Amino acid sequence: MLQEGLAQLGLPTDGVPDLIRYAGLLAEWNEVMDLTAITDPADVVRLHFLDSAALLSLEDFRGKRVVDVGTGAGFPGLPLRILEPSVRLTLLDAQNKRVNFLREVCRTLALEDVECVHGRAEEFARGRRGAFDLAVSRAVAYLPVLAELCLPLVKVGGRFLAMKSVGSDEELEAAGHAVALLGGQMEEPRDYRIPGTGICHRLVVVTKTAQTPAKYPRAFAKIKKDPL
Ligand code: SAH
Repeated sequence: MLQEGLAQLGLPTDGVPDLIRYAGLLAEWNEVMDLTAITDPADVVRLHFLDSAALLSLEDFRGKRVVDVGTGAGFPGLPLRILEPSVRLTLLDAQNKRVNFLREVCRTLALEDVECVHGRAEEFARGRRGAFDLAVSRAVAYLPVLAELCLPLVKVGGRFLAMKSVGSDEELEAAGHAVALLGGQMEEPRDYRIPGTGICHRLVVVTKTAQTPAKYPRAFAKIKKDPL
């Protein structure tokens, strides 16, 4: 199913052995800590691996500096790096136990160049403003909030890519103001189907066209209480 799914996305299948080892570690660690609610092996393939991999057919990741904000157990960032080794990846998460898991996966798969950071996006932005070509994120926050966490990290000319459901029209509408304030420009969303399933998801695409004003991102309490 994994091989076929990748082929349907037009992607090479060299990364399959690494993805299988990653799935093994995920199942093992998930027994002792809460990493993911998705445990059925077929669902891990479809809802974690192929959903993440689909991004490679929607955007050019080759050689890009990519930050995955709120990556959790590594989605979508790690499958992107495994399937497109030229990606220069930073995985960022606020939960240390998840970052420890990511470090273990990277060590086991010899992904030495992947940076695993324990931290909050709004704090990480202090040192790494405009440092990435692409910021990706899945299942982390409401879009106006997520835009403030992600866009400051992206360089002008880069992109912020948010994985959302196809039912996110209202959220997209609500994010227009935040995106404009943060120096972004909303592009046409890219809807896609996860291969081998009837499930459609949406990639929200924001191009950074101007520097984000220095006052953003604000402290998280403020972002949450008073989204842009
Ligand atoms: N992207 C993964 C995990 C989603 S769960 C997936 O789709 O499977 C959301 C994750 O975002 C959690 O692991 C949480 O710790 C992290 N998170 C939430 N707010 C964050 C912030 N401000 N900075 C960094 N990580 C954050």
